[in-house]
Amino acid sequence: KSRERNVSALFHDQLPRPVLALLEDAGRLGDELGVPVYAVGGFVRDLLLKSPTLDLDLVVEGDGQAFARAFAARHQGRVREHSKFKTAVVVLPHFTINANQPPREQKVDVATARLEYYEYPAALPTVELSSIKMDLYRRDFTINALAVELNPASFGRLVDFFGSQRDIKDRVIRVLHSLSFVEDPTRMLRAVRFSQRYDFRIGKQTLRLIKNALQLNLLDRLSGHRIFNELKLILNEEEFLQDLEMMQDLGILKAIHPKLEMTPHRKALLEELDKILTWYGLLYQSPTPRRWLLCLLAMAATWKEEELLALTVRLGLSKKEERELVTLRRSVHKAMDLLKRWCAGDKSLSELYGIMHQTPLEGALLLMAKFDDDCIKKHLSLYLTTLRGIQLQMSGEHLMDMGLPPGPIYTRILDSIRAAKLDGRASTLAAELALAEILVRQYWDAQQQPGS
Ligand code: ATP
Repeated sequence: KSRERNVSALFHDQLPRPVLALLEDAGRLGDELGVPVYAVGGFVRDLLLKSPTLDLDLVVEGDGQAFARAFAARHQGRVREHSKFKTAVVVLPHFTINANQPPREQKVDVATARLEYYEYPAALPTVELSSIKMDLYRRDFTINALAVELNPASFGRLVDFFGSQRDIKDRVIRVLHSLSFVEDPTRMLRAVRFSQRYDFRIGKQTLRLIKNALQLNLLDRLSGHRIFNELKLILNEEEFLQDLEMMQDLGILKAIHPKLEMTPHRKALLEELDKILTWYGLLYQSPTPRRWLLCLLAMAATWKEEELLALTVRLGLSKKEERELVTLRRSVHKAMDLLKRWCAGDKSLSELYGIMHQTPLEGALLLMAKFDDDCIKKHLSLYLTTLRGIQLQMSGEHLMDMGLPPGPIYTRILDSIRAAKLDGRASTLAAELALAEILVRQYWDAQQQPGS
């Protein structure tokens, strides 16, 4: 039986007014349609942990898709329906959270809880459960199996059938039943992720079930794509290194792929990469480097390309992702050789720019992590923070004014002027233009050479 508690005070304290109003309105719509509506999952968990998120997940005991359509219509939103799963996403394109920020897109996930859609695991006795209880029972961990009722008469009533509040208080990750990892082995990775994110321990019985699942090689049966999705979520966590270490200790990494082990060398490289990502994240909010690319390449630093490709097959990477990974790896190798040579030469900034500007952002960050050499590290950081953003003051229009016919020569001349600027030989607009005049004249001279 669920223990009664009302969390509407938490809603009022922690949620921005417009989000609260949206939830209240969802409850009113529930009444109008005659269906109970609940906020569920991570949203409720994070509310109780006092770090509210704005990822809204609703469950309707009734027709969730009809609810979503009506909800979208009331809030000038769009709705995307997934009939197979009886779910829908309502998208409110211009949602204002507070007056100081521009409107942003707000998504509300809506699911249908209906008894008849559930398949009971064969080994469990068939018992009658209310549909919200069944919906919560199918979730991964007790901390994610809370619901809050939104209908006006009981707005804020917390629905806790499985001791979720106690587990949040005791800071423990527990599955809801002993077949949980058999039902879905990706939950092993999710357990690690939540455990590290919230600094919760994994319960004793749950840990035992993870070890059993690994002994039964349950991950082998899972599609690579699903593992890769969870892996991406892990790598996007702030503390991804601790996640990887915990996966190593539990034996999850090598169960995903025998070569995915945290050797001391890989660990050192990932630690360096972590520092560099933090440094970069403090300087630039976007674009965010794709961590899965970086971490896979760091793990595979000493592998042959075929070995990396075998891993991409196991993880079910898309063709596009595979191409990005292989291309990045090649461009990092090429840049590494060139940088070593650059370092032995006169270290001109234009040459450094020439080596690096073809390398994607992730490549530059990985190179910073790989080189022990302080001089190269410093110059790569100069490249990322300054050189790559240097703009010429003049433009192609100036060349047009000089009577130069449009063509590839424009890029060549502008590149030469940029190189001069990087090396401190054209710091003002006048200097750029003077250099442009010389280059344009050389172009005409070359045109007049016989045989050119
Ligand atoms: P995050 O803060 O990382 O987004 P979340 O709890 O919102 O965490 P989602 O992956 O968005 O995580 O999932 C939403 C909810 O769906 C979860 O809270 C959980 O109840 C349920 N869920 C997600 N994945 C699974 C799974 N593999 N097995 C069972 N339930 C799951």
